[in-house]
Amino acid sequence: MDFGWTSEQVELYERAFAFARAELSGDEAAPPVEDFPRSRWRRCGEFGFLGLPVPEQHGGLGLDTLTTARVMEALGRGCTDTGLVFSVGAHLFACVLPLWERGDDAQKRRYLPRLCSGEWVGANAISEPEAGSDVFALKTRATRDGDGYVLDGSKSYVTNGPAADVFLVYAVTAPEHGYMGLSAFLVERDTPGLSVGRPFQKMGLSSSPIAPLYLEGCRVPASARLGPEGQGAPLFKRSMQWERACLFGAYVGLMERVLEQTVDFARQRKQFKRAIGKNQAISHRLVDMKQRLESARLLLYRACWLMDRGQDAAMEVSLAKLAISEAAVQCGVDAIQIHGGMGYVAETGIERVLRDAIPSTLFSGTSEMQRDIIASHLGL
Ligand SMILES: Cc1cc2nc3c(=O)[nH]c(=O)nc-3n(C[C@H](O)[C@H](O)[C@H](O)COP(=O)(O)OP(=O)(O)OC[C@H]3O[C@@H](n4cnc5c(N)ncnc54)[C@H](O)[C@@H]3O)c2cc1C
Repeated sequence: MDFGWTSEQVELYERAFAFARAELSGDEAAPPVEDFPRSRWRRCGEFGFLGLPVPEQHGGLGLDTLTTARVMEALGRGCTDTGLVFSVGAHLFACVLPLWERGDDAQKRRYLPRLCSGEWVGANAISEPEAGSDVFALKTRATRDGDGYVLDGSKSYVTNGPAADVFLVYAVTAPEHGYMGLSAFLVERDTPGLSVGRPFQKMGLSSSPIAPLYLEGCRVPASARLGPEGQGAPLFKRSMQWERACLFGAYVGLMERVLEQTVDFARQRKQFKRAIGKNQAISHRLVDMKQRLESARLLLYRACWLMDRGQDAAMEVSLAKLAISEAAVQCGVDAIQIHGGMGYVAETGIERVLRDAIPSTLFSGTSEMQRDIIASHLGL
């Protein structure tokens, strides 16, 4: 394994980090939940964040998996609005990426340039009230109707739902085939029978809106199906592998920013006539933060390196996702503790790190589900 970056990768990382810091962070005060940050979304598109691995001919940057994860890291480090960063990741890895990998020419032509430029927002709708971790138990039906399908069902949590122009919806086409009886559909927002529910209030990621989605007699043409009938589950698993790897690059970047900020604070804040960082209780806590960050980062790079070689990386991706998300939550707790009262008040932005980190152990498959995947690779 080569641990070096090429000069192009270094330059791209630096540019992405500087852009994210200068152009994307927005107001420290969280915007209201319905207020999707459209203008900063457009700026994400201008830089290329919304199409990192998509080939240039379709409006992306054509990056490999490892470089995609590294640029997501720059985004997460530079942009303090983790809600926006999460929305970018959900759009890119759970909607744009399956479209690029499985879409036909007409679908790629219609959707990819709009989604990569930031003109449109994409969303992924699979989870249902009775199908969360047991996601393939979903009940939304897609019934053949002449030259199309009629979709009926409801989806529980759709990131970007309130702002999305197109939804990647998973539905059952052949219940008797179980896992191989699911299919994926691209459903545009103005399709009759599709409606988005009221956005949920949540503890963090405040600029990333999330809402339920309802499909009632929602008719789509057969050309809206993404990939062959019955291939929805493998398509979703593949997109989750990308998301669990690359989206979590952004949390590596977030941890690096918070560590830098917390070290600075520990050097400057004086109590008992010396910097608090001179106490081992504080410096060792910072060392533990650093160690968790670096080991999670290496797990991520190895998973992406395997994916770029076309090797089975399911276990390595789960190891990386688990390590990064749990390290991010601990990083939020440690940063608050070291900042003392300053860590708990909203103005410093420190408590927000914890609120934005907590959901990372839930979305893209919970920590328990990642441990189950790893256990099955151990033969358990
Ligand atoms: C911020 C956020 C954004 C999201 N965005 C989207 C989106 O865009 N599209 C979408 O489709 N979904 C989205 N989701 C939904 C997400 O994928 C689910 O929340 C997740 O899969 C868990 O499902 P659940 O919430 O129903 O929890 P449940 O599956 O009900 O789990 C509850 C608890 O039980 C545990 N558990 C369940 N089964 C087992 C088991 N067999 N062994 C041990 N423990 C178990 C879980 O790990 C968890 O701790 C999002 C969720 C969040 C929080």
